[in-house]
Amino acid sequence: MSTVVYPGSFNPITFGHANIVERGLKLFDHVVVAIGTSADKDPDIELHDRIELCREALKEFGSRVSVEGFNTLLVEFVREHGTTFVLRGLRTVTDYDYEFQMLEMNQALDPSIEYVLLPTSNEWSHVSSTRVREIASFGGDVSAFVAPCVVDYYR
Ligand code: ADP
Repeated sequence: MSTVVYPGSFNPITFGHANIVERGLKLFDHVVVAIGTSADKDPDIELHDRIELCREALKEFGSRVSVEGFNTLLVEFVREHGTTFVLRGLRTVTDYDYEFQMLEMNQALDPSIEYVLLPTSNEWSHVSSTRVREIASFGGDVSAFVAPCVVDYYR
C-alpha cells in the first residue's frame, strides 16, 4: 500500500486542503494528514480541535485518510509511517519559495525524502487558513471556504 504524508498547520482545514487530499488519493492509496505546530503562525485553534475538525471535514474519504498530530521532525514522522513521500499544495510563487526551502532542508536531513507538490486548483487558489481566521474573527461567513464543522466551530 502506498502512503503519503501531508503535513501542515491546518489552522483550520479549508476546501483548498481537502482538494489536495482528494487529488493525493489519485496518486497514493493512503494519505496521512499530519498536523504540526508552526512557530511563525498564530496557533489559535488547539491541536486537539484541529485534529477533530480535519477528521470530520475529511470523513467522506473513509479509511484511506487518517489524521494525526505530530511534534517530531517531519522526516522522522514520515519514516515512522513507512514512506518517503511528502505531499504539499502550491498556491503562489511565495508558496513555491517556501516549499523549496522546506524540501531542501528535509532532503538534507534525509535524502530519501521526496516531495509531491500539487498546484492548487483555480477554485481554491485564493483560500488560506489565515484569511479564514481573519474573516471568522470579525464574525464573517466562511462557509464558502471551509466544511460545515469548521463553520460551526466559529459560531
Ligand atoms: P503550513 O503551516 O505548513 O504552511 P498550512 O496548513 O497552511 O500549513 O498548509 C499546508 C499545505 O497545504 C501547504 O503545502 C499549503 O501550500 C497547502 N495549501 C493551503 N491552502 C491551500 C489551497 N487553498 N490550495 C492548495 N494548497 C493549499
